[in-house]
Amino acid sequence: MSQIIDLRSDTVTKPTLAMLNAMMTTPVGDDVYGEDPTVNALERKLASMFGMQSAIYCPSGTMTNQIAINVHVKPGDEVICDRMAHIYNYEGGGIARNSMASVRLLFGDRGRFTANDVIENISNPNDIHAARTKMVEIENTVNKAGGSIWDINEIKKIKEVTDKHNLKFHMDGARLFNALVETGESPKQYGELFDSISICLSKGLGAPVGSVLLGTQDFINEARRTRKAFGGAMRQAGFMAAAGLYALDNHIERLKEDHCRANAIAMVLEKQPYIEEISPVQTNIIVFKLNKSLQEKDFAKKLREKNILCSIFGPQTIRMVTHLDFTDEMLNELTKTLQSIIN
Ligand SMILES: *Cc1c(COP(=O)(O)O)cnc(C)c1O
Repeated sequence: MSQIIDLRSDTVTKPTLAMLNAMMTTPVGDDVYGEDPTVNALERKLASMFGMQSAIYCPSGTMTNQIAINVHVKPGDEVICDRMAHIYNYEGGGIARNSMASVRLLFGDRGRFTANDVIENISNPNDIHAARTKMVEIENTVNKAGGSIWDINEIKKIKEVTDKHNLKFHMDGARLFNALVETGESPKQYGELFDSISICLSKGLGAPVGSVLLGTQDFINEARRTRKAFGGAMRQAGFMAAAGLYALDNHIERLKEDHCRANAIAMVLEKQPYIEEISPVQTNIIVFKLNKSLQEKDFAKKLREKNILCSIFGPQTIRMVTHLDFTDEMLNELTKTLQSIIN
């Protein structure tokens, strides 16, 4: 039987042997007492990469985002984000559930709105009818939009607006490193723009578990309380943190390979008669629409029969994500299958 080609997400990667080895041989301690040297090293490393004061290791990117929101807002406040935002669509209604905050959705260009959009959606702080605008969130790259990358110049303009109106500015950087290897920008350029940044180690970077939240020392002190209350404080978490450290040392530059393969998939798809539209591929995510000749469920079924998995992302819409465990050999297999699907 041929192996499974799993393109549902870049979260499906398994640790490499070298990563496993790093995990098994790392020193650990009780992180709730602040005594896990590997967790401490991971937090210090990311904080210093981004030029931010402090960091906290958490079980998931949902938790890092939700903690950031919880620390930044009070019940009844409003969060501005794009309608495609992960914090809005994929975190179990956490903004309302955990923080009792309201959301103002913007309709950006593939998840990317402008400073002007923000200005137009800040409520008047003196109007008692309105929810109080308290924070702005952006996602980079934008998952639901097919891995689109933000223009840092627009982010800088938004930062001027958040400064002027005293708003918190958070980045869901689940796949920020995918953006950075494409633009050549540095983590520090982002560190100076945000009050808080969330980074996922378990996506393209290939760690089995874990996300890190970055911010000022005061913010991270509050985040530590919130993580405890959310049940996310772990004990010998260093085994997992070691995978994150290994990923930061070894798996950043190689993200470009994932982007190349994603591009190659898009080029094959482009030529197929069942394709309606493909979102421009900038990183490792391919989101595409099928035309009327082929239903998304049938497309997914035809792939599954060849041991290939993809995500149904909406009506007639499919998502594929390339990653560490998706090889050139698998790309060839996938290409053959995509070319042989008969409408
Ligand atoms: C995956 C992801 C997260 C976090 O997801 P978890 O599964 O909770 O780690 C957050 N934001 C974006 C954009 C993501 O793609």
